[in-house]
Amino acid sequence: MEREIETKCLHLEEDEGKTDHFGAISYPIYQTATYAHPGVGQSTGYDYSRLQNPTREHLEKMVASLEGGIDALALSSGMAAISLLMELFKPGDHIIADSDLYGGCIRLFQNVSDKNGIQFSNIDCCREDIESYITEQTKAIYIETPTNPMMNVTDIAATAEIAHKHGLLLIVDNTFLSPYFQNPLKLGADVVVHSGTKYLGGHNDTLAGFLVTGREDISEKLRFLIKTTGAGLAPFDSWLILRGIKTLGIRMERAADNALKIAKWLTAQDVVTKVIYPGLPDHPGYEIMKKQARGFGAMLTFQLKDKESALAVLEKVRMIRFAESLGGVETLITYPATQTHADVPQEILEKNGITDATLRLSVGIENVKDLLAELESVFASL
Ligand code: PLP
Repeated sequence: MEREIETKCLHLEEDEGKTDHFGAISYPIYQTATYAHPGVGQSTGYDYSRLQNPTREHLEKMVASLEGGIDALALSSGMAAISLLMELFKPGDHIIADSDLYGGCIRLFQNVSDKNGIQFSNIDCCREDIESYITEQTKAIYIETPTNPMMNVTDIAATAEIAHKHGLLLIVDNTFLSPYFQNPLKLGADVVVHSGTKYLGGHNDTLAGFLVTGREDISEKLRFLIKTTGAGLAPFDSWLILRGIKTLGIRMERAADNALKIAKWLTAQDVVTKVIYPGLPDHPGYEIMKKQARGFGAMLTFQLKDKESALAVLEKVRMIRFAESLGGVETLITYPATQTHADVPQEILEKNGITDATLRLSVGIENVKDLLAELESVFASL
């Protein structure tokens, strides 16, 4: 019987019954760059930490198990993971990417991947006809679902079907829901991307990124690339993410409960013109989310009536911190226009509906009464 995800966050099944590492319950940190060989032509299985490190390997096995993949690679940040992934493609290749993505991805695609000869069509993958953008050169479809920050939801299984009909890879950034709520590989995706900095780490203290795949051929290529380009996650950071994962389930449950309550509260505020949370039944992606995910997550975006109101909220919050990033235990509020999406061209911002009155909330695990009390006092003064 396949175990439940909460249990998988704590126990790596293949390690059970073993008492190596002196029976340590917390996996040790192998803070070493290199490894002695028992003899000429022999290896302990570890030669050099750029290639592999036991602590990182343990984390990678854990994340592969959570996503239902055969391999996971742990990298020094989410962007390091996505940059490595782009090395699968060559000049002339074309990728269909959602237009509403984390701003750093758009910056990477437009300034670095493009310079390397990879072409992109940025489209609204949940509303536009993806197939009409496929050309001879198209090699992949790249999506986030829900998207950052506009919370658009794409049907993963339907998109996988289109991708595979045309021999393309489907790449899904699963950062916003984490493997606790959604497993894209099980819905047909070929590669899952994570910013491990967010829910997997969960404590706003460590940067990390992951690439997970269920395909042997992709795993082999990525292993070659990580050893060659060298952005593997450091042992101590690997340990911090392992520690974070232990509580992923209870953190996600609490944060998602809080998010739903806050979304409903925001909906009733006069100064708020729109609340975008896929757990609200009027969200266009609500039914797809119910089909493909086990929860709605803890990210929500809302529009205020004008820029002044948005800036006033950012000035007035105290316990809720005005900061970039998401997915940690502390609630953070972000201003996409000048922070996460500052480098996104104006026409893409407009297409996605991101304005100077858009705010994004990463709801944490505080008692929701305290979060609502703070929001009430902030909104009362607008
Ligand atoms: N993917 C998503 C959806 C993100 O929100 C982020 C960062 O905010 C990234 C990737 C990049 O991850 P990192 O900041 O760990 O490099």
